This record gives sequence, C-alpha cells and structure tokens, in this order.
Amino acid sequence: MSTPSLDFDPSAVPLPQGHFIGGAYYSAGEAQLAVYRPSDGALLGHVPDASDATVDHAVSNALAAWKTSGWGTRSPRERAKVLSRWAELIDRDAVSLAQLETVSSTRPVTESYASDVPFTAEAIRFFAELADKLGGDIAATRRDSLGFIASEPYGVIGAITPWNFPLSMCSWKCGPALAAGNAVVMKPSEMTPFSTLRVAELAIEAGMPAGIFNVVNGRGATAGAALTRHPGIAKMSFTGSTRTGAAIMSDAAMHGTKPVTLELGGKSPQLVFEHVRDLDHTARCIARGFTANGGQACVAGTRLIVHERMAEPLIDAIQRQLRPIKPGPLWDSRTAYSPIISAGQARRIEALIEQSRDSGAEVIFGGGFFEGTGEGYFHRPTLLANVTADTPAVREELFGPVLTVQTFKDEEEGIALAAHPTYGLAAGVHSSDIGQALRAMRRIAAGTIWINRYGRSGDMIIPTGGFGQSGIGKDLGREAMVASMRHKSVLIDFEAP
Ligand code: NAD
Repeated sequence: MSTPSLDFDPSAVPLPQGHFIGGAYYSAGEAQLAVYRPSDGALLGHVPDASDATVDHAVSNALAAWKTSGWGTRSPRERAKVLSRWAELIDRDAVSLAQLETVSSTRPVTESYASDVPFTAEAIRFFAELADKLGGDIAATRRDSLGFIASEPYGVIGAITPWNFPLSMCSWKCGPALAAGNAVVMKPSEMTPFSTLRVAELAIEAGMPAGIFNVVNGRGATAGAALTRHPGIAKMSFTGSTRTGAAIMSDAAMHGTKPVTLELGGKSPQLVFEHVRDLDHTARCIARGFTANGGQACVAGTRLIVHERMAEPLIDAIQRQLRPIKPGPLWDSRTAYSPIISAGQARRIEALIEQSRDSGAEVIFGGGFFEGTGEGYFHRPTLLANVTADTPAVREELFGPVLTVQTFKDEEEGIALAAHPTYGLAAGVHSSDIGQALRAMRRIAAGTIWINRYGRSGDMIIPTGGFGQSGIGKDLGREAMVASMRHKSVLIDFEAP
C-alpha cells in the first residue's frame, strides 16, 4: 500500500463540536473558548467551557451507564473485543485523525501520522490484550484457608490530559481504565480538544456502550476542578504540570479521599561520560531529546551533564544536528519541527532565558525565535552554558527547546549533578562502559532511565511515571492496568475435617 500524501489544507479539516456525553455530541449553550493553530496563531475554532451542571450531567450519565450497560461486569474478553475494534478504527482513520491532531496541536503531520495515531491505537490494543490477564492473585496463606485478591473496576474514573500529545495522552488514560471495566469522563486540554472528541466517537462505532467514554471540554480551574470534586468520580488520573497535579491531589483528598495517578513535569538530565561508543549517535539522542515537539515533552532531556574532556566534541556534534532544523507549517509534510503552543508559553520561555542570562548564563547556540512564521512561535534550539544548579533554566521546567550544559570531572560529580531537587521523571545515561552506566542507573532517582538512547520506544509494556514532584503512579505497562482497579482481599476458612 502506498503512503498517502500527508500535505493538507488546514481550513478544510472538520472540527467536532461540543462535549461528548452519553454516546453523542452534547451542547448546553455555554460560553465558547477560542482554540488557535500553534503553527501560525490563526483562530481555528471553539469549544464550550463546561459549567458545573454539564460536568455533573457527564458524570451522572457515566455512572448510570456503568451500572446499567454491564461494561464492568461483562467478561474481560468481551471488553477486549470492543477495544481491539476501536484500535482498528483509529488505524482506519489514521489520515483524518493525524490532520485533526496536527491542526490544533504542535505535532507536525508526518509525526502525527507516523507516531501519535499508531501509538494511540497500539496503547488501546495493548490494554485490550491485558484485559483478561490481570484479574487478581492467590495469596500465600495458611494451609487451612484460601486467600485471594479479587480485582474489580472502580466505577467512573476522571481523566485530565495536557496539550502536548493529546491523542497519546488520551489513550494512556482511557486504555487501562476502560479495559479494567470502568467508565471514563475525560477533560482534554482546552487548547487541544478536538482529536479526543473524535476518538470518543469511534468508541461508539466500535461497540462501546453509550456513556462509558465521555469527554467534557472547558478550563482547568473550573471544569477540571468540578470533575475532580464530583462525588461520582471514584479515581482521578491526571497528566500535566506539577502545580496542577498538586491542586488535583488536594481536591481529590478533600472530596472523597480519591486515589490519584499523577504524571507531572520533569527536568531530565542527559549524563554523558568520557567515553561513548558513537559520538554522533549520542549527539543525535541529545539533540532529539530536547528539541522533539519543540521541547514540549515531559521527558525532554534538557540538562546536558557532560564529562569535561567530552564537552567540546559533543557540543560540536550536537550543533551539527541542530543547524538543519527549520520551522514550517505543520500541515506541510516536509516540516519536522514544532512551534511553541501559545504566545503566553513563548513569553515564559524567553523570560526564563533572560533570567538565566542575568544570573550569568551564556547563549552559545540559537536563542530567540525563527522569523517569518506569522503569529507562530518557533523557538530556535538553544544551548545555555555557564549555568549552575541555581540557574532558572536548570531549576525550572521551561517546556521549550533549551538545553543547559554543565561539565564534570569524575563519575561521582556527574551523578551528583544529574540529581534534581524537584523532579525525577527520566534520565539519559551515555557511556561505552556498561558497568558505569548501570552504577549511574542505580543512583539516579528517576522513574525512567535510558541507557545509550533517549526517548520511549513503542513498547507499551514499559511503564512511565515519575519520582519526587514528577508524579505518583504509572501510565502504560501492567502497572497502569492494576492501578485502574481496586483490590478486594478474600479469605475462606476450610471446614474442619
Ligand atoms: P497544565 O497542568 O496546565 O494542564 C493540564 C490539564 O489540567 C489541562 O487539561 C488543564 O485544563 C487542566 N487543569 C488546569 N488546572 C486545573 C485544576 N485546578 N483542576 C483540574 N484540572 C486543571 O499542563 P499543560 O500546560 O497542559 O501541560 C504541560 C505539562 O504537562 C508539563 O508540565 C509536562 O511536563 C506535563 N506532562 C507530563 C507528562 C508525564 O507523563 N509525566 C506527559 C505530558 C505532559
């Protein structure tokens, strides 16, 4: 089969309208929020800003559907069939979904098509396959009793997602929750709502009962908070910033002591020792690690910690990787680089760079924005040297393509510099000495360690999640499925002989 031409006209992409509740689009005549195209800043469309009443309607409807549709009580294999069909429909609509993702997010169409859409389908397929594999355990009790742990769905899970990978984040949240037999009410980011709505529509076509997967749109502080606080929500699953994660954790604690899964921010190191097998490969990992999606990835590797004797050749090699990067409309299949999501976020990046310079940092490559992209903010890949642990660009998650550079003299110092006082999401370790790489792996406090590579693979079995203020719990892997169920302990005494 030949690859379809991926270039498209952004003004010709139909946008879903409203919320998606009870298996159909739903409108309550609320105020509308404007959604912009990050590529050129043009107004793209609108989504409604859910009132408390709409959130209540979505959750009550989901709870009723969960109780009456049999989704949570039917055999897991039956749920798996629906989820597998859903994944097939996502693959079937790969081109239109990629266009919808690209038009409102920061994802170039080639990447939406080659990675976001297939990864979304694969994540749902992975959890479909797990549906009847993780149902509980026999416990090692005394011989005259039988103990087991029966796992069951919670009921309705609330899910809130960020703007940076809307489709993937949607599948990471709803895949395990639905496979485990829950209903879901999801609130996508108000900046990138459309692809999630379309995926919800496809769930109905796949045979999922109406009301099991619902989408409410709106602002975080209102609609998101109303969802978290709703008494019908049994658990919250959130991906976004550390600050919002703390607000959600506090709301979940105050409104029903609900469990939370929180996937939060990061400031991940790329630790490069004195010897690596292939310098260009390491440079590619580092360049890609901080520029992918314009640096707007939670796991972006934005702190280069490099052995002092390796620093000069490595920085030269990284710059060779960065020079060809150029901006372009995301709907042009030649574009591989992402704009910053919004003017506000672009200003924040510049402010943090400015503060870093005020504290002594030096821009040794890039700086500022590419010109000629209208109201689109394509930040140049930027390297900042002369930094310390206190430099704002080292301390704070910038969420832009900015790499700070620190050097070290020996293994001990390198590992110490890789530690971050706040975050522990991911880390890259580059060394041709596997013993050294594994020593670093043991000592770096991060939820994911990549050795001689940087970035996720398509292996959904590997969970992702952070330590420290990078989060609580895991997405993907068996862990996400287990966390989507509550676990009931059962003990049976045998009758005396
Ligand atoms: P954000 O925290 O501003 O918003 C995320 C979502 O939360 C949005 O849907 C927003 O509307 C909602 N929200 C905001 N305030 C809320 C509140 N008080 N109550 C309930 N919901 C609320 O984050 P963002 O700017 O959309 O995304 C970028 C952040 O997400 C970065 O910090 C990034 O590191 C993080 N992220 C983490 C992962 C991970 O797997 N750890 C993955 C992607 C993004």
